[in-house]
Amino acid sequence: MTESNNGKEKKVIFSALKPTGDLTIGNYIGALKNMVALTEDYDCYYAVADLHSLTVENVPADLRRRSYDFLAFFVAIGLDPDKCTLFLQSHVPAHAELAWVLNCYTLFGEARRMTQFKDKSKKAPENVNVGLFAYPTLMAADILLYQADLVPIGKDQQQHLELARTIAERFNNRYSPTFVVPEGFYPKTGAKIYSLLDPTAKMGKTDDNTAGTIFLLDDEDTVMRKFKRAVTDSGNEIKFAADKPGISNLLTIYSIFSGKSVREAEVEFAGSDYATFKTRVGECVVEYFKPIRKKYFEIISDKGYLNELMKKGAEKAARTAYRTLSKVYRKVGLVPAP
Ligand code: AMP
Repeated sequence: MTESNNGKEKKVIFSALKPTGDLTIGNYIGALKNMVALTEDYDCYYAVADLHSLTVENVPADLRRRSYDFLAFFVAIGLDPDKCTLFLQSHVPAHAELAWVLNCYTLFGEARRMTQFKDKSKKAPENVNVGLFAYPTLMAADILLYQADLVPIGKDQQQHLELARTIAERFNNRYSPTFVVPEGFYPKTGAKIYSLLDPTAKMGKTDDNTAGTIFLLDDEDTVMRKFKRAVTDSGNEIKFAADKPGISNLLTIYSIFSGKSVREAEVEFAGSDYATFKTRVGECVVEYFKPIRKKYFEIISDKGYLNELMKKGAEKAARTAYRTLSKVYRKVGLVPAP
């Protein structure tokens, strides 16, 4: 809890996005859009999780570019740096420092049970590094440093959050109450968006075939081309149905970006052919992102502004983070630096 300007207590939210691939409309729907809404009622800490990105292979120049890009998109979609705290994880060294301490309060057997570690190890058997194994303790540090009450997560992060809670409770019981034990927060909005080429698979920012993914960076022609080539289903009806995953996905996308319900969209496109429908979905997405992309380009071309934003955000985050870290250091018996 943090005290806000009007003296009321506000719950703290922590959320982070890994810059391992460029942002997609899936990220926008599933995470970013909601992050903006949450800043009204919560004290939000939003990080670009660059340290987490190192657990998988990266081209250094891409990681650097994306770190700036993510921050620029944060602001372009409407996150106000005066209303929330926006920063790069690596700019607040307390994340890595607390993660080390938490490693020492996490059992090997607990970390070994994480299904994401098992899945990722299988996917890249040549790079099963210790960082990948310790990923959940760094994530626990991210959350616990800010005494977050709530962490917006999808199902895939549930097990990691459970571990963060276990670690926090263990530490609190062993010493004295130190960490807020965080709860998962499952926002109601945020449909799952599927690949335009394989509507049974999630649209992901690291998919091998980028033709199935709409990136926020895609220009208008690219967006239109990708929608025109989107996989559809047999038949010719534009209807949301289990046996029509391609059309259903496009209807979901159209509904979100047009502000109409799926039912209204079905009525609108009754009698239309697939090609016309796909063109309209593409145009609608292009239209929606026009102002966001305009803002993004203004911000990304102003490195001075971005650097200032990063600096201020990291300073603000560090104030909270180091309060927690120094408590932790003191409790475990480390001598404060004179
Ligand atoms: P990821 O890009 O998988 O690291 O996910 C970052 C955030 O975006 C998470 O909150 C995901 O739930 C959300 N997200 C990613 N892809 C999609 C998608 N295709 N549909 C909905 N939400 C998504």
